Amino acid sequence: MLRSVILAAARSSKFERFVGTAPVSRSLVRRYVAGETTADAVAAARSLASDGLLATLDYLGEDTIVAEQADATRDEYLNLLSALKAEGLSETTEVSVKLSAVGQRIDVELAYDRARQICAAAESAGTTVTIDMEDHTVTDSTIEIVNRLRQDFGDTGAVLQAYLRRTEDDCKSLATAGSRIRLCKGAYKEPETVAYQRPLDVDRSYVRSINALMAGDGYPMLATHDPRLVEIGIDRARWFDREPDSFEFQMLYGIRPAEQLRLAAEGYRMRVYVPYGDQWYGYLMRRMAERPANLAVFARSLWTR
Ligand code: FAD
Repeated sequence: MLRSVILAAARSSKFERFVGTAPVSRSLVRRYVAGETTADAVAAARSLASDGLLATLDYLGEDTIVAEQADATRDEYLNLLSALKAEGLSETTEVSVKLSAVGQRIDVELAYDRARQICAAAESAGTTVTIDMEDHTVTDSTIEIVNRLRQDFGDTGAVLQAYLRRTEDDCKSLATAGSRIRLCKGAYKEPETVAYQRPLDVDRSYVRSINALMAGDGYPMLATHDPRLVEIGIDRARWFDREPDSFEFQMLYGIRPAEQLRLAAEGYRMRVYVPYGDQWYGYLMRRMAERPANLAVFARSLWTR
């Protein structure tokens, strides 16, 4: 119930204005967001690399309905990718892109075109792009765009969400040679018709989807902080005779950092998703909805403003 309310607030511009002016919420932002500038993002990637961790950088922003904003987002990715190349970080660091930030809600073809330009820049920088997944109304359109991008850039990654009832089947059909699929639980408020609502059902779907990805020919990217699912991922990789470099784990910046280092020290590929930029509101609200303990801190920060 509380999760639903917070996720609904994540899309409210009125609440965004209210939260954005609360000073204490800034310190909460710093836990989950690496900074506001390209230099902050590059510094975070460099620091993670020195700890033996991979990174995927996300320039925050979503649900853009202004074409100029979508162009500005594309330009920031181009800028970021040339900085990664110049800093020699392309081997350890890729980028994650939300199609709604490059105009998916304005014009799908323009979003595809901007995403294409980002993929081309990533290819020339020697790295890859993963296209984030947003709510279920754009699942088909997003998968279609990833499939088109993969015709030109074979390594464009997709994201599938275990809470969607369709995901096990999507894993089976997308886990083809050369594919890179990030599997997460899913972070949006979705109706019962399309998504499992009980956490246990989401976890079971996640395990079935791990099996489908590990059995397939692609490169699974298991994005979860859930200790049981990490253990199941390790077990399934062994069962399917996967070499340690044929799959990876992913976690979010600021969440379970000690576990990130532990997995890397044990020889697993561990990638950290690093958001940066000043459009942090929607991202932060989804993180709050994931954990009741965070909600208490967050509510206090608004109350004491
Ligand atoms: P949970 O059951 O939520 O959490 C397991 C444990 O992890 C918790 O008990 C707690 O100890 C810790 N934990 C989890 N969340 C938090 C938090 N916010 N603060 C502190 N501790 C926490 N979702 C999408 O819908 N689309 C995407 O494209 C997408 N990309 C992602 C990329 C990466 C690399 C990751 C890690 C997640 C991504 N997500 C995405 C979010 C994902 O769907 C989940 O909402 C999120 O990861 C929480 O699920 P969980 O698997 O960690 O399990």
